[in-house]
Amino acid sequence: MFRKITAALAVTLGLSFLVPALGAEPASAAPVAARTIYYDASGAQEFKAAVDEGAAAWNQAVPEIELKPATGGQATIKVYADDGWPRTISYGFGQGTIYMGREAVNDGFYPPRIAAHELGHTLGLPDNRNGRCDYLMSGHSSPTSCQSTTPHATEAAQVSQNAGGRVPATFSKPIRYDDCFTF
Ligand SMILES: [Zn+2]
Repeated sequence: MFRKITAALAVTLGLSFLVPALGAEPASAAPVAARTIYYDASGAQEFKAAVDEGAAAWNQAVPEIELKPATGGQATIKVYADDGWPRTISYGFGQGTIYMGREAVNDGFYPPRIAAHELGHTLGLPDNRNGRCDYLMSGHSSPTSCQSTTPHATEAAQVSQNAGGRVPATFSKPIRYDDCFTF
């Protein structure tokens, strides 16, 4: 039996360096227009529908954003499939490259939940391996039986804030999130 350990890699560096860059809170409490974020799942092979499902879950939970399939070259999130571990390299809020790694799928994890988790990284959320199925960012610390794609209210609130400028549109260097198990 594999012991599940995570290679959090850049995660700890991840958002901590962003904190000084946080601006003042918006002066107005007026409703914010939804920010459209285009994704391209044409390279996601058998996971295209899973990516759409993950995106829909975020759209439903966070009124400030709308993840939409790209129709041209405007995608800032690109999703691929490969045989490695699921992972995301994020370049800024709503910007990133996602790999729907088959290792986790082969271990029994639910593809739409993997997609929602990886999209969460592109929306500025770090891993939060608390083992809870009701959190998307718990990732593989939750059991493989967990098929929830709904963000926890806390996660949805964080993404709302991130969309409002809490996470920069472009990072000074990419943040990599590796959702892998090692021995
Ligand atoms: Zn992750």
